[in-house]
Amino acid sequence: MNVARRLDPSWRTALEQLQPGELRFDEPLAPWCSIRAGGHAEALVRPASPQQLVELLKLAHAGGIPVSTLGGGANTLVGDGGVPGITLKLPADFVPEQLEPGRITLGGGSAITRLITVMKQQQRVGAEFLAGIPGTLGGAVTMNAGTKHGECMSIVEAVELATPAGLGWVDAAQLPHEYRHTSLPPGAIVTRVRFVLPEGDLEASKAQMDLDLAYRKRTQPLSQPNFGSVFTNPKGDFAGRLIEAVQLKGHTLGRAQFSMLHANWIVNLGGATAADVTALMDLATLRVREAHGIALHPEVKRIGVFL
Ligand SMILES: Cc1cc2nc3c(=O)[nH]c(=O)nc-3n(C[C@H](O)[C@H](O)[C@H](O)COP(=O)(O)OP(=O)(O)OC[C@H]3O[C@@H](n4cnc5c(N)ncnc54)[C@H](O)[C@@H]3O)c2cc1C
Repeated sequence: MNVARRLDPSWRTALEQLQPGELRFDEPLAPWCSIRAGGHAEALVRPASPQQLVELLKLAHAGGIPVSTLGGGANTLVGDGGVPGITLKLPADFVPEQLEPGRITLGGGSAITRLITVMKQQQRVGAEFLAGIPGTLGGAVTMNAGTKHGECMSIVEAVELATPAGLGWVDAAQLPHEYRHTSLPPGAIVTRVRFVLPEGDLEASKAQMDLDLAYRKRTQPLSQPNFGSVFTNPKGDFAGRLIEAVQLKGHTLGRAQFSMLHANWIVNLGGATAADVTALMDLATLRVREAHGIALHPEVKRIGVFL
C-alpha cells in the first residue's frame, strides 16, 4: 500500500543529493517488522555512520521532514497508509564495536543477540534476561526491554545520542526510565550503547539463558509473525489474564488473532493488515475496560498513517 502523503519532490532530490547511505523510496516495511503487516516507507534511509546520520537529521529538521525510527521492528506496528517522510533504520555495522575490561559498547542498530554473543566471548554475565528478546539495542534502550529477571537500562552505563545538533554521550542515570519505557530527548536516535557487565558464574549464566529460551518456546507462538506482548501489564495484574477473562483468547478479526497460546500476543495468520491488528487491540481495550474498569496500554509502538 502506498503512503498517504508524499514528500515534496524537492526533498526527494535533496535527500538523494545528500547521499545519506542506503536510500530507498516507497519501500515496503512489512518485511522489516516482525508482525509482517503495514504499508510503505516514503523514504527508508540506512545511514552508514553517525556523522551521516547527523547530516540527515539536520536536513530533516531544516525541511520539516518527519523522521520515524525503526530498529528490528519487533515492537512496531506500521499503519496501512505507510510512513510519510523518512524512516530511519540503522545498520548493524553502523559503528565499530568497542571492548574494554567490563565494558561492551555496541551500535544502536546491533541486534540484542550480538550483545549476548559478545558477553559470552568476553566471559561476562548480567545480560541473561535479554536473551531471546528480538530486536536491536536501540530498540531495547528505548523500550527498556526486559523480563521479570531484569531490564535493559539496569546494565547500561551510557548511550550516545544523535540529534540535529550533533552527537553526544549521556549517562544512563540522566535518562529517566521505567517499565518498558526510557525517556530520550525528543527526536534523539540511539547510536551507541555502553554496557557494564561484571565477571560471574558463566555456567549459571548459560543455564539461566537455556531455561528462559525453553520457557519462551513452550509459552510463546514463535512460529507465527507477532510483535511480542501487545499491552503492558497493569500494576499487579497481567494483560494476558484480563484478555482471556473477556473471552478474547483465540479471537480473530480479519487475518489477525489473539494467540491461542498467549492471549496478550497477536499473531498474523497470513495477510493481516495493520487495521486488523488495531481492531483487535481496540476490542480488547474496550472489553477489559467495561468488564474490569482497567485501562490497557499498548506496549507496541505505532508509526505512520492508520486508515
Ligand atoms: C517474539 C518476541 C518476543 C518478545 N519478548 C519480549 C520480552 O520478553 N521483553 C520485552 O521487553 N520485549 C519483548 N519483545 C518486544 C521487542 O522485542 C522489544 O521491545 C525490543 O526491545 C524491540 O526492539 P526493536 O529494535 O525491534 O524496536 P522497534 O520495534 O524497531 O522500535 C521500538 C521503539 O524503539 C524506537 N527505536 C528503535 N531503535 C531506535 C534507535 N536507534 N534510536 C531511537 N529510538 C529507536 C522506535 O522508534 C520505537 O519507538 C518481544 C517481541 C517479539 C517479537
